[in-house]
Amino acid sequence: MAGSDGTAEPAAPGIDRARNYVGGWVDPNGETEPVTNPATGGEIAQVRYSTAADVADVVETAREAFEGWRATPPADRAEYLFDLKAELAARQAEIAEALSLEHGKTVAEAEGEIERGIENVEVAAGIPNMLREGSGVVEGVAPGMDESAVRQPLGVFAAVVPFNFPAMIPLWFLPYAVATGNTFVLKPSERVPLSAQLIFEAVDAAGFPEGVLNLVNGGVGTVDALLTDDDIAGVSFVGSTPVARHVYETAAAEGKRVQAQGGAKNYAVVTPSAELGEAVPNIVGSVYGNAGQRCLANDVVVGVGDVYGDLRAELLDAVDDLVVGPGIDDGTDIGPLITAESKARVVGMIADAVEAGADLVVDGRGFEHPDYPDGNFLGPTLLEGVTTDMEIARTEIFGPVLCLAAAEDLDEAIGMVNATEYGNASSLYTERGAEARKYRYEVDAGNIGINVGVCAPMGFFHFGGRKASFFGDLHAQGEDAVNFYTDKTIEIERWYS
Ligand code: NAD
Repeated sequence: MAGSDGTAEPAAPGIDRARNYVGGWVDPNGETEPVTNPATGGEIAQVRYSTAADVADVVETAREAFEGWRATPPADRAEYLFDLKAELAARQAEIAEALSLEHGKTVAEAEGEIERGIENVEVAAGIPNMLREGSGVVEGVAPGMDESAVRQPLGVFAAVVPFNFPAMIPLWFLPYAVATGNTFVLKPSERVPLSAQLIFEAVDAAGFPEGVLNLVNGGVGTVDALLTDDDIAGVSFVGSTPVARHVYETAAAEGKRVQAQGGAKNYAVVTPSAELGEAVPNIVGSVYGNAGQRCLANDVVVGVGDVYGDLRAELLDAVDDLVVGPGIDDGTDIGPLITAESKARVVGMIADAVEAGADLVVDGRGFEHPDYPDGNFLGPTLLEGVTTDMEIARTEIFGPVLCLAAAEDLDEAIGMVNATEYGNASSLYTERGAEARKYRYEVDAGNIGINVGVCAPMGFFHFGGRKASFFGDLHAQGEDAVNFYTDKTIEIERWYS
């Protein structure tokens, strides 16, 4: 890796710029922005934004490909997905390296997210069978009359995705959209466009017919062009809550299907029965992994009753061992934050929490990496005495910061969990089944972990999310994805001769 002097340091061989893929690689016509390595501050590539005219061309290409792709038998569509899986697996190390360089996460984390993405390609390859679910015939609904429901694709779908999982999140959508017979347009985050380039190299190698899968780079203007294009049947979005709400409202007002996953504020609760030796490393992975830039990060940890003292002591020990550095370096636990602005925002949140009365037990703000002075590094931070009236207890941190809070009993802890405006995820650490059952029943969140701090669903389950963490009704992945990407046409028939 090159130094921090701003010189170009390519993230992947042959990729100096992010391009669009529209039946082949093309450069869009908007402004050009740098893609930077957050560990060095150096430029690793450029991304050119797509204009409204570029978006119109991409959508037109996808629309023209739709009828031919729809007519392709589902088992043949699945064959393309098997090939895509093989092409992605063959590129896993290359994608992981580029992902680590553009995002900052460790190579192991990058490899893990690619695996979770590939898992969705595998699930979607089961499409011939999945199409039978929710379809079917009821014979003789009236004398001589039969009624059936049949799943049909809707046309062109788009997905707009965030920076924090640039390889996995596109694959929550892409495989299901095309497995069900739709064509598809992906808009990656402009901050990390290189992982998607490499995914589309795999798409290209898998030989999908022209126009079935398309890639369009850009920012806000590009998204707004997609949201208002008459030929887009539906939009999947993952990102921050204000943008999720905007995407949901805009696309729904245009008569499109929308599923919009937003931000989060996740709490973990630790009861006195918990196995602390297992719970603490698990919590540390949830909070500090991916440098805290994870929508499932449990950034507030509530100790119930007399577990608090031991929990605090063991967390402090574990935090002490964490290594901060470039994700690409062996031995790193916590990579840099995505931008200097993100780091400044988190640093500001820590200062505000202290002002509001929290105790700063571990302060990572002064961390400087000796070899990478321009990296957006923030050391692991731990605040104690956090209460639900503090801003830091209500707002997503998206940095390596753990807020420790206390509750007298499980009821009080559940009240704290449910007080947030979000409902993405929550974890309970316990060895008592009755506590686990109560937690699942009473906590208002879409993903619940019991002794699991990152409760990311497997591809054959949908990814939950409620309250300000999700707008829509059908979620990403699994059966919900098949429902989102198809409509069930009813046919009622009677024959006279
Ligand atoms: P973001 O909202 O800034 O950007 C997401 C996408 O929206 C990007 O592709 C971006 O180009 C586009 N965008 C940004 N502003 C826009 C605007 N005004 N109009 C139209 N499009 C716009 O999010 P981010 O910073 O990339 O990602 C972090 C957020 O994503 C966090 O809040 C995190 O919790 C959330 N997230 C949620 C989930 C989930 O499953 N609920 C998963 C991952 C990330």
